[in-house]
Amino acid sequence: MSMAAGEYVSVSSQADTEAADLKRERRELAEDPEHELEELTRIYESRGLDRPTAEIVARKLTTHDVLGAHKRDELGLSEAAEAKPLQAAMASALTFTVGAALPLLVVLLLPVTLLVPAVSVASLLFLALLGGVGARAGKAPLMPSIIRVTFWGALAMALTAGIGKLAGAVV
Ligand SMILES: [Zn+2]
Repeated sequence: MSMAAGEYVSVSSQADTEAADLKRERRELAEDPEHELEELTRIYESRGLDRPTAEIVARKLTTHDVLGAHKRDELGLSEAAEAKPLQAAMASALTFTVGAALPLLVVLLLPVTLLVPAVSVASLLFLALLGGVGARAGKAPLMPSIIRVTFWGALAMALTAGIGKLAGAVV
């Protein structure tokens, strides 16, 4: 729940920023279309088009879908990367629940005396496994992902245990 709430808040503020950017862009387009056309032309020039080609492209895209062109090429917002707070929160809630269920299974299966080392080791193994699954799903190289996830997981566990020791409680 805390991961989902955090994700929701973070993606919501991103969505707010994007909406505010779009609103400002829409106003600028209404107030000073000439300046906006020049701005778009300069953007295409900076991406490697010569001045005449950039002018043609900017003019064509302005008549086709002016807000879409500024949204994509000036603000860098794309349909695929649009901030969707609820979707992000659901994905977080689901993945964190599934991920947390794996070490919990170990708790159910093993005797109490072994819990602390067994859950630590099992968690690291599961992290490595999930790092691998994530890399495979995204068609990225396996090892860097596995090492990254396991390393940061181990560090987080060590820090949490350290703080628990300092506070005199199991965290
Ligand atoms: Zn613009």
